[in-house]
Amino acid sequence: MWIISRPLVNKVFAHAQRMLPKECVGVLSGQGREATAWHPLTNIAGDDRSFLANPEEQIRLFRSLREQGREVVAIYHSHPRGPAQPSSLDRELATYPDALLLIVGMQTDGRLEINGFLAHDGRMEQQELTIRD
Ligand SMILES: [Zn+2]
Repeated sequence: MWIISRPLVNKVFAHAQRMLPKECVGVLSGQGREATAWHPLTNIAGDDRSFLANPEEQIRLFRSLREQGREVVAIYHSHPRGPAQPSSLDRELATYPDALLLIVGMQTDGRLEINGFLAHDGRMEQQELTIRD
């Protein structure tokens, strides 16, 4: 089970809405499977159907988290026109086996959904998320 506080989820949702029609990308950090801080990154992908975090920004963030003794708990992005399910591209690019792949689905009328996945044996396994108020 993964734990994310409600204020963090709200920040991720707001980031996803602000970036429309593009996808957003960012990181949640904390310890183990509990996320306690939000770190938006810049999506430098040239289209509206994929994401690529600015590599320098990401390296700087990961280094600073390491220095603070924090872990990358989740890497999130949004699907402005799709469900909160991994795309075939997401499956190919899931390169952080220990970090939760969080996806915000925005296709439903006004209601955002969020799901988390872990790459395991070449498959994406949906994880149990607890959103703590
Ligand atoms: Zn995706």
